[in-house]
Amino acid sequence: LALEIKENEILANHSTFRIGGAARYFAIAESTDDLIKARDFAKEKKLPFLILGGGSNILFGDNGYEGVIIKIKDMKLEADGLNVVAGAGVLFGQLIIRSIDYGMSGLEWGAGIPGTVGGAVAGNAGAYGHSISEFVKSVAVLAENGEVLRYSNKDCGFVYRGSKFKNPDNHEIILEVEFALQKGNKRKSGEAIGDVLAKRRGKLPRFPSVGSVFKNIVVDELEEKGEVLKLVPAEKIKGGKLAAGFLIEQSGLKGRQAGGAKIAEEHANFIVNTGGAKAADVLELIGLCKQRVMEKFGIALKEEIIVIK
Ligand SMILES: Cc1cc2nc3c(=O)[nH]c(=O)nc-3n(C[C@H](O)[C@H](O)[C@H](O)COP(=O)(O)OP(=O)(O)OC[C@H]3O[C@@H](n4cnc5c(N)ncnc54)[C@H](O)[C@@H]3O)c2cc1C
Repeated sequence: LALEIKENEILANHSTFRIGGAARYFAIAESTDDLIKARDFAKEKKLPFLILGGGSNILFGDNGYEGVIIKIKDMKLEADGLNVVAGAGVLFGQLIIRSIDYGMSGLEWGAGIPGTVGGAVAGNAGAYGHSISEFVKSVAVLAENGEVLRYSNKDCGFVYRGSKFKNPDNHEIILEVEFALQKGNKRKSGEAIGDVLAKRRGKLPRFPSVGSVFKNIVVDELEEKGEVLKLVPAEKIKGGKLAAGFLIEQSGLKGRQAGGAKIAEEHANFIVNTGGAKAADVLELIGLCKQRVMEKFGIALKEEIIVIK
């Protein structure tokens, strides 16, 4: 089957933020073959390409994307012993449920995190003290030269909310991920998921968003650590990290609006689209958060989300 490549596809329809202009070209890749075709197409047109999973961690610009967006929908999911192999396009939530069905456990903390396996691994998604990198055994990627390479966990460059695949200069495409899990108990896993979802429900904003906008601060990496510790109560540092949302709230920005965008009342590290928000509105709030937190705490906030301008 020939790969269908659409023109001028509205990206707001492919982002959980519901924000973004048109992509010059847009393809849905259901196989490695499709990915190669879509990438070759971009090369022929001398345009950049961007891999899209669930669009739950990305802010598209109001002018869209002058290139090829390749949405990945590789849905393979197989179990072998205590390993699960998932295609990059499988929803992370589906991986969690299916691995429990297979009699395994380990990923319950991730219940409620939107997006795909590829997106979760690229961004080293995490919650409640866990990150997906703890469970990744290997990652198969499509390299720039067309070869399929398999990286072991330690070669993926995992860091807090990142990996080498999230670096904009890395053009490798995650094809599938092998996870190493533990033997599970379906009833206990079901309860754990129920607990996680209940906790999340209380905290999550009801408007469209792309999750936490900024990374939390790894206190040991701060240059002016001593100065910061004078300004922040010790109990606000958990697992060596200081919540970006706390710093934004302390800077008096909770609830601040720009156009249709708003710093969420429920969680100051979320910016929400209350209706008709433009990327420019979100960028204004991002700039404001950075400026105020720098002024008040001397800390440079860094985006967790991918921003396409
Ligand atoms: C309500 C809400 C709650 C959230 N809660 C959490 C949370 O608790 N913890 C957390 O970590 N995140 C959270 N997020 C953020 C987001 O869900 C995660 O970052 C998720 O893992 C992103 O996956 P995605 O498929 O949507 O990625 P996308 O947004 O589609 O892409 C993100 C980045 O990954 C790259 N990418 C995607 N697939 C591939 C691939 N196959 N190969 C190479 N690169 C790829 C993209 O190019 C892009 O740079 C939340 C988001 C929302 C909206």
